[in-house]
Amino acid sequence: MVPLIALRGKVLFPDTVETLPVGREKSIRALEEALAGEGEIALVTQRKARVESPGPGDLFDIGTIGEVLHVLRMDGGTRALVQGHRRIRVLSLVAGGEFLRAEVEEIEEAPAAGDPSAIVRAVHASFEAYVRLDARIDSSVTAAVGGIESPGRLADAVAARLEVLKLEDRQALLEELSASARLERLNGLLQGEIAVLQETRRIRARVRREIQRTQPPSEAGSPPPGGTQGSAREAEKDEFKNEIAELEERTRQKKMSKEALAKVQKELRKLRMMSPMSAEATVVRNYIDWVLSLPWDEKVETHIDIEAACTILDADHYGLERVKERILEYLAVQVLVKKIRGPILCFVGPPGVGKTSLARSIAQATGRRFVRLSLGGVRDEAEIRGHRRTYIGALPGKILQCLRKAGANNPVFLLDEVDKMSADFRGDPAAALLEVLDPEQNSTFNDHYLDLDYDLSDVMFITTANTLHHIPIPLQDRMEVIAIAGYTEYEKLQIARRYLVPKQIEQNGLVGYDVGFTDSSIRTLIHHYTKEAGVRGLEREIASICRKCARDAVRKGQLLRVRVTSRGVPRYLGVQKHRARLKADRPQIGSASGLAVTSYGGDLLATEVTVLPGRGKLILTGKLGEVMQESAQAAMSYVRSRAEALGLEREFHHKVDVHVHFPEGAIPKDGPSAGITMATALVSALLRVPVRNDVAMTGEITLRGRVLAIGGLKEKILAAVRAGIATVLIPADNQKDLKEIPRAVLRGVEIVPVETMDDVLRAALPSDVMALLPSLPAEALDWRRVDAANPLAVASPADPAETADAADAAPDDDPSGDVA
Ligand code: ADP
Repeated sequence: MVPLIALRGKVLFPDTVETLPVGREKSIRALEEALAGEGEIALVTQRKARVESPGPGDLFDIGTIGEVLHVLRMDGGTRALVQGHRRIRVLSLVAGGEFLRAEVEEIEEAPAAGDPSAIVRAVHASFEAYVRLDARIDSSVTAAVGGIESPGRLADAVAARLEVLKLEDRQALLEELSASARLERLNGLLQGEIAVLQETRRIRARVRREIQRTQPPSEAGSPPPGGTQGSAREAEKDEFKNEIAELEERTRQKKMSKEALAKVQKELRKLRMMSPMSAEATVVRNYIDWVLSLPWDEKVETHIDIEAACTILDADHYGLERVKERILEYLAVQVLVKKIRGPILCFVGPPGVGKTSLARSIAQATGRRFVRLSLGGVRDEAEIRGHRRTYIGALPGKILQCLRKAGANNPVFLLDEVDKMSADFRGDPAAALLEVLDPEQNSTFNDHYLDLDYDLSDVMFITTANTLHHIPIPLQDRMEVIAIAGYTEYEKLQIARRYLVPKQIEQNGLVGYDVGFTDSSIRTLIHHYTKEAGVRGLEREIASICRKCARDAVRKGQLLRVRVTSRGVPRYLGVQKHRARLKADRPQIGSASGLAVTSYGGDLLATEVTVLPGRGKLILTGKLGEVMQESAQAAMSYVRSRAEALGLEREFHHKVDVHVHFPEGAIPKDGPSAGITMATALVSALLRVPVRNDVAMTGEITLRGRVLAIGGLKEKILAAVRAGIATVLIPADNQKDLKEIPRAVLRGVEIVPVETMDDVLRAALPSDVMALLPSLPAEALDWRRVDAANPLAVASPADPAETADAADAAPDDDPSGDVA
């Protein structure tokens, strides 16, 4: 649902910017609603302008979705500067509330049929001819339109400027989805208007001649006879004058850079010369308004009191001790150097771990305002730095837009999701961002639209990212990374009890009521209704329960008393959404449990290996990345190098095909840390001994079977504990990371540091077999006791024909191949 404004006698086209006078209460409320969110708003034209409060049947079905850029409240009323984005169809309209809102869907435009270049040229030519005839349109508009080549955009840009067209024609242009057809229709309308203007000119000339002939020469210079039309014009002119006066007054009051002042004065001079209704005047007016409403000199007083900052951080956040400490250190440095210098803080971690909320606390602790800009999906440099003013619908970039919202030039500015930007043909936003963040350059940040230097050096930028991988290196170099891993179940429970539940109770107006959640109900929410490293989903589920309680409260009045219990949860939220992935229920041959880091924390990653008679192929399935393939090769090489010790025929690998598979479709599988898991599953499959199902492992493997350190230890161990694993094998080099893991968690599992693959096998395969293994010569083991059907464990050379048969007879995943 988006807020919607019904337009009277006006159609807003995509990719255009318009100033709309807004009068009706519902429209103003819709504007406020839009501004409270991301600014998104639907603009749809009324079928009949005189309908005061339009309902579902009173609007056209097709409109435009856009964004409220700014609301100007002047004496003459409210004006909204809106930018149209895309065509939409209104699916349903809710007219009952304080403002209109609608369910809308965006409409795909049909691609131009055939080669549209001829009609594009024709429209350009007609429009130029038209502008030459119509005094109300400033000729610089043709220059702006002249640059547009995309047929669809050209049609919209021209249509938007042809305010003379009848409403039905404009609406029809909006509704025409094929760009070529739209241009054809537009060209016809343009031709019609040109004819009208030419005719008007001829008539005027004739009238003038007539007047000159009939009246004495002295009166010929007086204004033409003024009916109602003339006085409307006059009123418009007066309003325009007032507006200019208002802008002049604001210019006088405003402190800004010299350069900015000179520019504003120049633009004001230009504006005075323009005709009030021209599109150009709107452009100039908006520009001046932009410059005047930026905080040039406005600052809020900041202070850093480390003690107070510590209290604020603690008050809003449970745990996160190391993170808070790093933040306080950072603030302490700021106190010492006085000016914002040095690296930019970057919080890295999965969603919902408190990154935004920490940044808010920093703002509060330093007395700064707070603004947030999400960079997710930003591909265009202009989104950061603005479009040049010659571009139709140009605007300043998001950096300055946010500063205007902040109303001060020294806020905490949160740049969210820096890892989700991407570069394409429209330029590299990361490069622009680099300039924003660089203290050497950002005191003279040049936005393309403003084309003035703006000083960003008092802004405290903070960035967030989900992972570091996708942040360009030069950007990383500027940042001081503070990693926030996920929370443990215990931490989530505490956060919910102390913060999320009280907050939601308050937000849903349940303060006076007796509403509570039992611990077990929160645990149920954590395990069965969310799957995340942070607590965002948990907060959402708690909110959803609170909303339902609020509804009951309204129904029942003061008597409401609710204790949400674990068994009661499904009544509010429906059936469980997730079942935790648990360890396999018994040891299996060729299947080992690895541990992976996912966007919601960690997870068990089952690895399956099957060995079939063949000729040495290594097959990998389950959408594996390149690094994974290499680790599989390394695992294979290790097993070959240990073939003898493992009691395998030395050239065994020529006689088998090995198939490695990762069945869990959803887990991203790239990275070296599954190396030892693959090697274990492989050895298990070759020897036909099962892997212990209560062991999980993580570690990179080298060709010679050494185990190397991995990342994400905390997430992985948490996942293992959740899954009911008893023993976790970790690289010996990762032991130092264990101190990051809460003791309560470590009490629940046995951690076995491993240095070599031999250590891994000793821990993961049944002890009675493995105890003997590396120390004894292979011949000494009676492998046929282990599994007579295994053709590959060779105590005596086997007959190749028999080997193949035997392999067929024993499916590899047959769990009955147990050792005992
Ligand atoms: P992120 O920016 O990392 O995605 P948010 O800051 O939006 O996460 O956090 C989501 C919600 O969880 C917020 O309501 C926040 O206050 C709450 N939250 C996260 N971590 C903590 C914590 N350690 N203590 C208290 N509340 C927390």
